[in-house]
Amino acid sequence: MFSAYCPRHGSEVLFGERRIRRLQNIDGVILVEVECYDGERITIVTGRGRRGPSSSAQLPG
Ligand SMILES: [Zn+2]
Repeated sequence: MFSAYCPRHGSEVLFGERRIRRLQNIDGVILVEVECYDGERITIVTGRGRRGPSSSAQLPG
């Protein structure tokens, strides 16, 4: 299980492995594409090769 920010929900949503639609490993950077329960496609960047500032959503407050 993992959570990701869904813009359509406007909040973090918890996903299971079954929501994963695509896995892509590019030079150690892993792109995980998940389909939210509302149909929104969310791409999560993970992996040890991640460079630069984190693109993960910042929680308000
Ligand atoms: Zn959603």
